[in-house]
Amino acid sequence: MKNLSDINVIKSVMGKHGVTFNKGLGQNFLVDPQVCPAMAEAAGLDENTCAIEIGPGVGVLTAELAKRAGKVLSFELDRRLLPVLKETLEDFSNVEIINEDVMKANLPQIIEEKCKGMDVVVCANLPYYITSPIIMMLLESRLPLKAITVMVQKEAADRLCAQVGSRDGGAVTVAVNYYAESEELFFVPSDSFLPPPKVNSEVIRLTIRKEPPVKVENEEFFFKTVKAAFSQRRKTAENSISAGLGIGKDKVAEAISKAGLEKTIRAEKLTMEDFARLAELLG
Ligand code: SAM
Repeated sequence: MKNLSDINVIKSVMGKHGVTFNKGLGQNFLVDPQVCPAMAEAAGLDENTCAIEIGPGVGVLTAELAKRAGKVLSFELDRRLLPVLKETLEDFSNVEIINEDVMKANLPQIIEEKCKGMDVVVCANLPYYITSPIIMMLLESRLPLKAITVMVQKEAADRLCAQVGSRDGGAVTVAVNYYAESEELFFVPSDSFLPPPKVNSEVIRLTIRKEPPVKVENEEFFFKTVKAAFSQRRKTAENSISAGLGIGKDKVAEAISKAGLEKTIRAEKLTMEDFARLAELLG
């Protein structure tokens, strides 16, 4: 088997198939030999697990997943990489490469068809230009996932895994916390990639909750309230929610007071319970 984290091997196999790095698609490939085995270990795989990967590149993480999981479904948008992957993953019979944009693929149907009876997890070194959209799509489409173990930009990791009610928190923090328990696993410096990106990275794990941590009657309105509250971070939650939801300030002020909160509170200080209560009072 080829050593897919060896820079010379990557360059040679890409050169052979006439493939160059496409920056626009977030193509920074892992070259630190310790990172992919550690990610695959953290993903919690066994022979009854179907691992979904987004963006295999030349297949360095895919191979580690294939060694540990019953099945690997790997979505790669760049069709130029298909002949490369055919060659690099030839030793594995449990890998299927799906040449689709993961944001457009019918994941519920694909998982239903191809991962029947198996535990399903996501493990990927995500393309950074669409990190949050991918994570939100995976969470919001209520796929039957156990966990999502992914490499993301360090700053994105901090936001995704922040405590709700802390300075690092944002609308995406609340959304992640609603669906999953998050953990920052390990730091990965930029020189672990070819070509090295301008930013450092981190591997995080989101373990999907069976039940959300708060009871919410109308999820759509709950998330609208959260987005509105964070839409103008420097303003008070009262002003941002009023402007974002188009609800009069008096009504929002009344809800904030009824929820037992200070009039000048900002979104970053609100807890999951506060957001749930405000959405209930305003909905
Ligand atoms: N897994 C490889 C590694 O760790 O070396 C490559 C990771 S690279 C950061 C991201 C990969 O995602 C690239 O192969 C890129 O072509 C692919 N990609 C980008 N956008 C995508 C999309 N919308 N759907 C599927 N794959 C995508």
